[in-house]
Amino acid sequence: MMLIPCPFCGPRTESEFTYGGPVRPPRPDPARTTDAEWVAWLTEVPNPLGPVEERWCHLRGCGSWLTLWRDTRTHAIVGGPQDAG
Ligand SMILES: [Zn+2]
Repeated sequence: MMLIPCPFCGPRTESEFTYGGPVRPPRPDPARTTDAEWVAWLTEVPNPLGPVEERWCHLRGCGSWLTLWRDTRTHAIVGGPQDAG
């Protein structure tokens, strides 16, 4: 079971959290983006092998959203949380 460090509640099991997905690049300006680039931004989800910046919500705890780095090979938390709120 993966332990996620909530900045308000301390380390908690992943069963208390809801996965919010990877942090995506900023939304491009549709007026300055090609159709292919726009479709790629809308539909492609980053799924690299290794450290990934992700959003998690402590839904069954304090309700805070946090951003952390998780290694997809080991599920180890390798960074963060850098923010919460
Ligand atoms: Zn919490």
